[in-house]
Amino acid sequence: RLPVVAVVGRPNVGKSTLVNRILGRRAAVVEDVPGVTRDRVAYEASWQGRRFTLVDTGGWDPDATGMALRIAEQAQVAAELADVVLFVVDATVGVTDADEAVGSVLRRSGKPVLLVANKADNQQVELEATALWSLGLGEPYPISALHGRGTGDLLDAMLDAL
Ligand code: GDP
Ligand code: MG
Repeated sequence: RLPVVAVVGRPNVGKSTLVNRILGRRAAVVEDVPGVTRDRVAYEASWQGRRFTLVDTGGWDPDATGMALRIAEQAQVAAELADVVLFVVDATVGVTDADEAVGSVLRRSGKPVLLVANKADNQQVELEATALWSLGLGEPYPISALHGRGTGDLLDAMLDAL
């Protein structure tokens, strides 16, 4: 079994964009990862020659009542099946209630978590990303999943945590 990396966070923070960035053109859906359902899609990925299973999460209706709770529940399931969790937050928005809920689930999971400050497209947002220290998950990794900024350093740190 390959190590499993799960990408979690509230809707619209850029989880799927990050997954696509990591996969590049070598995207392949993996069918047999326990715990992966319709709300979670697993791909085979690699970085620096090391292969891992990358799980994208999502499928929530952002308008649904109790959304923060559902996101936190999904993060819990993802953390249980993962060896490392990439917790994506929108650095242009800052910390929301849903981010706090996910953060506390992940802190309790005991799994290694990398806090990803996405949408740091420029140095201004990168500076604002330091506010994410308040989540209690250590150093935020500022990245732009859209443009590729910072993703190499994030993936190097991910390999160290695997
Ligand atoms: P998900 O719901 O968390 O999977 O988010 P998506 O990957 O679908 O992205 C939601 C929106 O954010 C889309 O319009 C993306 O183009 C945009 N987005 C994702 N990453 C970035 C980024 O690094 N910078 C900016 N400016 N927009 C981004
Ligand atoms: Mg998505």
